[in-house]
Order: sequence, then C-alpha cells, then structure tokens
Amino acid sequence: MHAVVVTEPGGPDALRYRRMPDPVPGPGEVLVRTRAIGVNYRDVYVRRGEYPAELPVPGLEGAGEVVAAGEGAEVAVGNRVAWAYGRAGYAELVAVPADQCVPVPDGIDWQVAGGALLQGMTAHYLLESVYRPTPGDAILIHAGAGGMGQLLVQWAAARGAKVITTVSTDEKEKLAREAGAWHVLRYGDDLADRIRELTGGEGVSAVYDGVGAATFESSLAALRPRGTLALFGSASGRVPPFDLQRLAELGSLFVTRPVLPHFVRTRAEVLWRANEVFSAISEDILRIRFGGTYALRDAAQAHRAIESRATAGSLVLLPA
Ligand code: NDP
Repeated sequence: MHAVVVTEPGGPDALRYRRMPDPVPGPGEVLVRTRAIGVNYRDVYVRRGEYPAELPVPGLEGAGEVVAAGEGAEVAVGNRVAWAYGRAGYAELVAVPADQCVPVPDGIDWQVAGGALLQGMTAHYLLESVYRPTPGDAILIHAGAGGMGQLLVQWAAARGAKVITTVSTDEKEKLAREAGAWHVLRYGDDLADRIRELTGGEGVSAVYDGVGAATFESSLAALRPRGTLALFGSASGRVPPFDLQRLAELGSLFVTRPVLPHFVRTRAEVLWRANEVFSAISEDILRIRFGGTYALRDAAQAHRAIESRATAGSLVLLPA
C-alpha cells in the first residue's frame, strides 16, 4: 500500500508518500481500505514534533470499507465505517480497533464521513458536555470560518445561541455569517471591548477558543463573571503558564483544556456523539464545507494550506 510518513519532524516537506507493507489487523481490529482521510490541525503539531504521536504515519481519522477482520473483531467485511481518533489515517490501508469504528449511514458520503467526523464530534462534546449554550446565550467562537469554527457556529446558532465569532478576512467573514453568526469581528486589542458593547456590558457566557496564544487574553477578558473558557486548541501557539489567581480577579472564571479522547471514553459515548453528528448533517443543521480536497500523495500541500490560514472548512485527502 501507499502511505504518507514522517520520519523526521519538520515542515510540510517532512510528509513523504511511500510504499509501506500492508498492515495486518490484530485481535479486535479491522483492516479498512480508506476512501477519505481527514486533515486536522493536530496533524500539523504532530508533524512538527510538538505533540507525542505514534509515527511514522500521521493522521487521526478516516472512512472506508472493511476488507478484513482480525480475531474477535465484531465488524463485518464490506461494512462502511469511519473513525475519528487514535488511529493514523494517512494511508490506503489502516488497521483500526473495531470498537473505534462507527457505521457510516447510507446518506453520508465518504468525504463527509472521513473528513468531518472528528471535528463534528469535537463540536458535539464542546457544546454538549463542556458548556451547553442555552437559547439567547451570547457566546464567542474564535476562527468561525475554520473547519471546527463553521461546525461550532452552525450548531450553536441552530440551538438559539447568539454567536459572536472572529475571522481574519472578508471572505471568511462571509462564510461565518452564512454559518449563522450573529456578529463577526476581527481579532485585535479592542475585541473584548467590542464584545462588551454587543452584550450590554455583561460579556459572553462561554468562549470556544482553538486559536490559543494569540487570543487567550481577549478570551478571558470577554467573559462574564462565572463564564467558561474552553481552550480546545492552539493554532497560533501554546498559551504560556498562567497564574490561577487571575481567574478570581477576572470573575471566578472556569477554564478548561479539553481533548476529544476524554469525551469518547465508552463505546456508547462514541456512538452517541457520532450518530448525533451524522443526524445533524442529514437534517442540514451541519453543512460541511470543504476547505480543500487533495490526493493522498499531496498531503504536504494540505498542510501548507492549513498552516498558512488560507483554508476555510474541513480538509480531506483522497487515496488514489
Ligand atoms: P482550522 O481550519 O480552524 O484552521 C485554524 C484557523 O485558526 C485558521 O484558519 C485561522 O482562521 C485561525 N488562526 C488564527 N491564528 C492563526 C495562526 N497564527 N496560525 C494558523 N491559524 C490561525 O483548523 P481545525 O478546524 O482543524 O482546528 C481548529 C483548532 O481546533 C485547532 O487548534 C485544533 O488543534 C483544534 N482541535 C481540537 C480538538 C480537541 O478535541 N481539543 C479536536 C479538533 C480540533 P482565521 O484566519 O480566520 O483566523
């Protein structure tokens, strides 16, 4: 099979398209021929050597057909499956634990299943299990035209939240508005002041921040007393060490740094979140916009695009 490998951490060119031995599914695993593979920002951190991961093959999610089953794996050959965490995906064949696989409903195409499930499940746990906005609640979602951003804006707006979001360009502003944002702002020193103006001086109930270092201070300053900051990523760099005493001074704030694996701890939780994502897509509550579709061999181009902030939406790799 062909796969994309990283043998030395580095820039996008560290991603090399190579022949590799076909993986053999172990006990409880199935072998999947991938039809679409998601590219996530975390893959960039892994490629740069900033996150521990099982290399050489990067990636976290994909979708395809089961072509073989290891001993005891309870998923049949021929099934359409997707998985969204934990098993490298940048390859034509991937051995995936059967208990991480979710069935892909008939109405969901490969690109959506392989490229949007991880972001969809992340949006689900953030809005369902970290802070659940109520109708009329004002919230801030950073990078509202990104892959995660568009899903969060769409889902929160569909639940009646008043979504304020940030973007860097006019084109992204248009996309964030189409996703249902109430107000679209640019990053900058006056961001928290603008948010206070929009919320009658109160601030927002929650901030969903996947940008990190560049936005962290404005995220804290935009919150109302007892508000929640869900810091779910660091596209602009990691947030430096923080003095907890400041949370008291800023209004008894809650800050959390959640990651998907802790929100899919049981088979029931995996299926619940995945099925809610697929249902929301089928019901047109979530409209998946792809920010780029690349051949698997061109994974480096996809990484260049996401790192340069040029993309708006989910990115997907297609095996030959
Ligand atoms: P995006 O498509 O959202 O790309 C990142 C976006 O961040 C850019 O498009 C850009 O939007 C914005 N951004 C702001 N500053 C920078 C910067 N300095 N460099 C690059 N981008 C910047 O990526 P994803 O949807 O894949 O991921 C978004 C975030 O969510 C990432 O931090 C990722 O790690 C995190 N994540 C976390 C998960 C979890 O469970 N904790 C799971 C999945 C994703 P603009 O130009 O409009 O500012």
